[in-house]
Amino acid sequence: MKRIALLGATGSIGRQALEIIAAHPELELVAAASGSEPIDGLAPLTQVGGDLTELLERARPDVVLNAVVGFAGLPATLWALERGIDLALANKESLVAAGDLATTARRRGGGRLLPVDSEHSAAYQCLEGRDAETVHSLVLTASGGPFRGRSSEELADVTPAEALAHPTWNMGPKITIDSATLANKGLELLEAHFLFGLDYDRIEVVIHPTSTVHALVRFRDGAALAHLGYPDMRVPISFALTYPERDATPVPQLDLAAGLTLEFEAPDLETFPLLGLARRAGEQGGTYPCAYNAANEVAVATFLEGRLPFLAIAETVEETLGEVDGAPARDLTELVEADAEARRLAERTAAAA
Ligand code: NDP
Ligand code: MG
Repeated sequence: MKRIALLGATGSIGRQALEIIAAHPELELVAAASGSEPIDGLAPLTQVGGDLTELLERARPDVVLNAVVGFAGLPATLWALERGIDLALANKESLVAAGDLATTARRRGGGRLLPVDSEHSAAYQCLEGRDAETVHSLVLTASGGPFRGRSSEELADVTPAEALAHPTWNMGPKITIDSATLANKGLELLEAHFLFGLDYDRIEVVIHPTSTVHALVRFRDGAALAHLGYPDMRVPISFALTYPERDATPVPQLDLAAGLTLEFEAPDLETFPLLGLARRAGEQGGTYPCAYNAANEVAVATFLEGRLPFLAIAETVEETLGEVDGAPARDLTELVEADAEARRLAERTAAAA
């Protein structure tokens, strides 16, 4: 029996996780949390908002599935990593914002960190059991979002509704906007760096419109291993929750005889600057990734409220990154301060846009 705490139970990932858990008698939901939606009776222990580590202390799960959206997921990520409790991580923002602190906590705790983000689950599977020195580089694929191929001029007036129409994945609103700006791939680049300990020049991003190849790892001998499947988050969620069993899911097998073409192209870094900004923030290190995430969260929320043009999301993040000091955070208090400072700057910039 695996005792699972599901944080973000009402969200896109959360609801798919409930489906996986319900289909597996050996997975027991012991605790569930949401941000504001009522979830009474969903699990023996539930909590709406507040400090999620209080719920985790009471529940003492074997696995924490962190499917909260945004920086709010950070305390739960650190709680699990510090204690060596298996962490199934969908909440990429926490790892991006607290990469160095999370890496230290993970080393101290010694537990498993199983990525739920599809590209990272795929990379984890390609890398599993292989020596780090045999790896040449990692390739993360991006669908390109609903605005692939458009010019900046064509993006000036896009509405939240247009940006929310994702071509291949059906996800929560924040990550859907991040996919439209390519900030999602920026966050994933940072996430991959902290998960797999690869330098940024060894992580490449390519556009792959059908989202069939989720990640690809190149090895030093010239071989490359890729992970393929239809885009369906139940696969990586199930992989993390049933690890190492790789249990069955209702997701159909790839139909190759029906014809499968795999197309790749380079991302348009000029029209979608948030990918390049993430790479630069990662290379600068310190709390630059934290500021990148914070400014992006503020800008996306403001865009969704209809108070910020689409192109100003990237401008807000770029200006914020130019203003923060980016000094490394020695502890959680300093990290929370860096996050708050970046939010203040981003709010000011967004209000003036
Ligand atoms: P949703 O917006 O659909 O769901 C977010 C969940 O987080 C909801 O359950 C929400 O509760 C909860 N929540 C928000 N704030 C808090 C808080 N302060 N305390 C506790 N719970 C909170 O998001 P997604 O499911 O799409 O995404 C979740 C995470 O997974 C994100 O980090 C995203 O980047 C990542 N991810 C998602 C993928 C997807 O396919 N959806 C794919 C890969 C990664 P409430 O309903 O009450 O607001
Ligand atoms: Mg992803």
